[in-house]
Amino acid sequence: MPAITFHIAIIGAGPGGLVCARVLQRHGVPVTVYERDLGPVGSAPAGPLELRAATGPAALRAAGLEKEFRALAHPAGLEARLLDHTGAVLHCEAPEPGTTQERPEIARRALRRLLVDSLAPGTVRWGRYLRTLHPRGGGRHQAVFDDGETATFDLVIGADGSWSRVRPGLSDATPHYSGVTFVETGLDDVDARHPDAAQLVGRGTMMALSGGKGLIARRDAHGRVRVYAAFRGAEDWARPAGVQTTDTEAVRSALLAAFDGWHDRLRALLRDSDDGFVNRPLFALPVPHTWPHTPGLTLLGDAAHLMTPLSGPGADLALQDGCELARHLVEAHTWQTDPDHAVRAYEAILFPRSVAAAETAAADLDAALAPDAPRPTHRLFRRRHLHPHGS
Ligand SMILES: Cc1cc2nc3c(=O)[nH]c(=O)nc-3n(C[C@H](O)[C@H](O)[C@H](O)COP(=O)(O)OP(=O)(O)OC[C@H]3O[C@@H](n4cnc5c(N)ncnc54)[C@H](O)[C@@H]3O)c2cc1C
Repeated sequence: MPAITFHIAIIGAGPGGLVCARVLQRHGVPVTVYERDLGPVGSAPAGPLELRAATGPAALRAAGLEKEFRALAHPAGLEARLLDHTGAVLHCEAPEPGTTQERPEIARRALRRLLVDSLAPGTVRWGRYLRTLHPRGGGRHQAVFDDGETATFDLVIGADGSWSRVRPGLSDATPHYSGVTFVETGLDDVDARHPDAAQLVGRGTMMALSGGKGLIARRDAHGRVRVYAAFRGAEDWARPAGVQTTDTEAVRSALLAAFDGWHDRLRALLRDSDDGFVNRPLFALPVPHTWPHTPGLTLLGDAAHLMTPLSGPGADLALQDGCELARHLVEAHTWQTDPDHAVRAYEAILFPRSVAAAETAAADLDAALAPDAPRPTHRLFRRRHLHPHGS
């Protein structure tokens, strides 16, 4: 690849886009990242991401950032409990003391800051929202940004998440509502302030499931428990009930009514929460989502394979995709081979891996919210280590 003339743009400064940029730049391949947020803090959610040792952290190692990542990450609690609505514990997995299995947890903003700081100044062009892409022949595409800026690239990498503006250049697929909404809230300093909830949730994740509904709670490394009330229903479930999703007490009452008959210890996760409630209708791309190879364009992360997050390793996959795509492009750069072959090689690995993960994520969510729940999830727990993170 002639280094000076081959222009690569990455759209989106999420985990996937940034790690891709870092690996490219580390090996001397020029790249520019375009991000709609105005700066590194931007609108990136504050919550933690739980990663799997073999994927996300491995990508950060390849990016030369392992030490810095370890300094910012905390080991996530590995305990996993499955309860029914009466509070009966059906299954509990606790790691052996001294276990070497590891699931690091890192704040989304800390991960973004780490990756941005590892790039040469000016690599990320903040406040640039990609509006459209126009083919200009020979695999080149002209990008038009919201502020009127235009630029033409040899390769545009869509790392722009669920509602990608790059994806329409490759496929007609759009994310569909999964039929499931999570309503998120949280309890702070649980050991001191909510000891009963601390005991109920344990040192990891608790899922209480019954009859198509669930309460999923996850303790983070700072003694905070994130709670998700999960249920099937319309995307705008609150409107017909006359509930404003911004009215904390109205949402609390509606949720307590929906979980009527559940054990009081479980309902207390909603009743005593310290935060407001955030409505998170879950969207996913169709499975499988692939596209015919198109010179000059490709996708990674959620833009390529948005899946529901109950057990879907979205950030792990985004980091893995970004790192692998970059490695193929670096090889093409080093050996002066055709970068289009590098993109093809990346896509050949991406498709089967992401299809398998998306199928599992969809099946786990279906099982958790099945009418006869928690039975199907109990079977999954017994068959394999189902580790929900949904947080
Ligand atoms: C409730 C919840 C909990 C989750 N918990 C976990 C977890 O614990 N572990 C895990 O592995 N995954 C988790 N996930 C999934 C994870 O958040 C995503 O899979 C991951 O963030 C995807 O990374 P990405 O880089 O592909 O995209 P994103 O993180 O979505 O980043 C995309 C970036 O592109 C920018 N952008 C979008 N459109 C444009 C445009 N047109 N122009 C310019 N910029 C644009 C956005 O501002 C954003 O910065 C969770 C998801 C949810 C919803």
